[in-house]
Amino acid sequence: MTWSKFLLLAALAAVACAQAPSSKELESSYPDAHALYLDLHQNPELSAHETQTAAKLAGRLRSAGYDVTEHVGGTGVVAILKNGPGPIVMLRTELDALPVEEKTGLSYASKVHAKDDAGHDVPVMHACGHDLHMAAILGTAEIMAHSKDTWHGTLMLIGQPAEETISGAEGMIRDGLFTRFPKPDVAVALHVGNELPAGMAAITPGIYNTNADSVRITIYGKGGHGASPQTTIDPIVIAARTILSLQTIVSREIRPGEMAVVTVGYVQAGMKNNIIPDHAEMGLTVRTFKQDVRKQILAAIARIAKAEAAAAGAPREPLVERYEGTDLVYNNPALAERLRAPLEVALGKGKVVTAEPIAPSEDFSYFVEQGVPGFYFSLGGADPEKFAQAKAAGTSLPSNHSPLFAPDVDPALHAGIVAEVAVLRNLLNTSPEELRKSTESPH
Ligand SMILES: [Zn+2]
Ligand SMILES: [Zn+2]
Repeated sequence: MTWSKFLLLAALAAVACAQAPSSKELESSYPDAHALYLDLHQNPELSAHETQTAAKLAGRLRSAGYDVTEHVGGTGVVAILKNGPGPIVMLRTELDALPVEEKTGLSYASKVHAKDDAGHDVPVMHACGHDLHMAAILGTAEIMAHSKDTWHGTLMLIGQPAEETISGAEGMIRDGLFTRFPKPDVAVALHVGNELPAGMAAITPGIYNTNADSVRITIYGKGGHGASPQTTIDPIVIAARTILSLQTIVSREIRPGEMAVVTVGYVQAGMKNNIIPDHAEMGLTVRTFKQDVRKQILAAIARIAKAEAAAAGAPREPLVERYEGTDLVYNNPALAERLRAPLEVALGKGKVVTAEPIAPSEDFSYFVEQGVPGFYFSLGGADPEKFAQAKAAGTSLPSNHSPLFAPDVDPALHAGIVAEVAVLRNLLNTSPEELRKSTESPH
């Protein structure tokens, strides 16, 4: 190594060191973050109903010195801290919880029930870890507000509603997120999970996750007495055949090696054993990486559903509706590589890994599609000891959305705050021009 290269690396390392929060900074903000975590975990709210959650987050950010606007795109929160000239960097957390009954047995487990949009009483749990994301953003917000000499520019924190129904990001954008407020030069978010032990982070340059489409199929038959099937056209039998045929799309129609998932997640038909109902409904999720594969699968689903109904002599064509969808999250490759060094310095050597794209989807893609380069990374949530045991046994810990999902809060929340502060200080120590150039550089 030449001297000049050595000096350059040493200088970069020194800058990166300065970007990680000190233990004193962490100690001073952690109690607030942890208290918010416990509160939110015990008081989860369903997608688009996060009123108390949003109010709590907004109140804490306001106390930390941020200029806070509430009710952006429903329950969304936008908190801005201006600190001189420089780039505008957005950091996002989700606000919503899931209709899942918590079975972790933790002393602070959720016991909350609420009415869902269909009017059903459902249990509610922060089974995706969004409570940890909110707690981390609060800790980060406090540190950034108390250390304005370590960065310059505009920090824009957002609390996004309804991520789980893939509607909150779009709602905030439609309500003027990038017109009423400054449009960021870069958008950042993280997600906690049990795929990594707490204290670690994973980076995925390029494609991070999948295109996701939700499809509902309503099959029409002819109802009647269960003892007189000859007078009916049984939609349950049509549904059963349709499900099996749908499973041949990936196995028989898609080129081997392409990422493609077709899952039928629910089937609903009938009320009583001796009545043949007049319709059946099923809900599917479709996951892909490529647009052409996505189109091919959606067309095949409609074709198969119609053909199976026709084969059974159904009185009407089935209704096939794509009722939700989101594009994959694309991580700006140059940005991901740029942020690897400060994350490694902040979390420790060997604590930052490169991960393969994952299947679960995310509406963070809506922000990226508005022309904002994005950096979305994974944060370890697993108890390191349990993670090692599971790995040795060849099993895995409960995934996000499981009733048993329970991140190892202390190390995961500490690492979340450390990682966010390191990333923000790195981005907020440049000029908008330099940042733009670095996201455009070929990789
Ligand atoms: Zn989720
Ligand atoms: Zn989530």
